[in-house]
Amino acid sequence: MSDQHSFETLAIHAGNTADPLTGAVVPPIYQVSTYKQDGVGGLRGGYEYSRSANPTRTALEENLAALEGGRRGLAFASGLAAEDCLLRTLLTPGDHVVIPNDAYGGTFRLFAKVASRWGVDFSVADTSDVAAVRAALTPRTKVIWVETPSNPLLGITDIAAVAGVARQAGVRLVVDNTFASPYLQQPLALGADVVVHSTTKYMGGHSDVVGGALVVGDPDLADELAFHQNAMGAVAGPFDAWLVLRGIKTLAVRMDRHDGNATKVADMLTRHPKVTQVLYPGLPEHPGHEIAAKQMKAFGGMVSFRVEGGEEAAVEVCNRAKLFTLGESLGGVESLIEHPGRMTHASTAGSLLEVPADLVRLSVGIENADDLLADLTQALGGSGK
Ligand SMILES: *Cc1c(COP(=O)(O)O)cnc(C)c1O
Repeated sequence: MSDQHSFETLAIHAGNTADPLTGAVVPPIYQVSTYKQDGVGGLRGGYEYSRSANPTRTALEENLAALEGGRRGLAFASGLAAEDCLLRTLLTPGDHVVIPNDAYGGTFRLFAKVASRWGVDFSVADTSDVAAVRAALTPRTKVIWVETPSNPLLGITDIAAVAGVARQAGVRLVVDNTFASPYLQQPLALGADVVVHSTTKYMGGHSDVVGGALVVGDPDLADELAFHQNAMGAVAGPFDAWLVLRGIKTLAVRMDRHDGNATKVADMLTRHPKVTQVLYPGLPEHPGHEIAAKQMKAFGGMVSFRVEGGEEAAVEVCNRAKLFTLGESLGGVESLIEHPGRMTHASTAGSLLEVPADLVRLSVGIENADDLLADLTQALGGSGK
């Protein structure tokens, strides 16, 4: 598939060549561990064992590389498996990493509770402030890790500006692109070295699979990561790879609707008397609005807001929602609501990444917008005028 094609076309066609044996237009689920060899070392399609490579996973990996404009995509069993592989490829004991002050809770836990035991140190910085990122660098820093929009506070980091800092310091820039998806944001083109995804979210898009991905441009780093992917073994299984590949075909149309619905939800919330603050990069008053408008095609489907009355009031809103399903995760076609302080971000309690207790996070789905607004209005109690 030519790189000349536009995103929507690549999403459907990249990696999705018709099955050579049958002509099936969708890559089959090659649910297989090993491959018959025509004589010792005589591999038919280059496949020998499915941890090393599997045709369904290859289809997804080629698709991921095309969508992010990278040279190589690698698919993992989960977003955190991808992150773990990346950490252990880029870092050795004594190295230091700068991570964002509102990183995904599991990413923070991976650094704070796992990588730290292997002698990898980290500092927490407000990555939306480029000077703060520069100030957090030490002579041992090897990686700057950025998440934009961030989770759950929807902070925006200027990827191109931080890429400049990283280049100057000779360190690598990793961008977790889970919230935006490659349809809305292309970190490699903005100067990042590695893109991380939880494909569980918008890429899969249907809340039916857990998966992760890495995409890189540098061929040497691609080889090192592929070596570690096989050596560590947390690969995406064939069926999971197939589900993500299937989900990606509708990514562009889903993201357009997520964005449209989230814009309406954010607008309604800003006018609601019980809402004290709405965090959505599409709002002109959002501190990262201009940078988001510059580096994103649209603002995405995640909206967080703070509720008058503190933690109990926020929990009540979550409990009263009906169409918005109370649950963790995000990025599926169905709308979800959650209380980060007690749910997704409970592990950050007492740390620098602790989230406000009165915060509610929405993953706005692709249902009818009026139905979503009505549900939020009843959950907040009273009229949404
Ligand atoms: C969910 C998520 C992850 C972790 O991915 P899993 O697939 O759950 O392992 C990483 N980063 C972000 C931003 C996420 O939302």
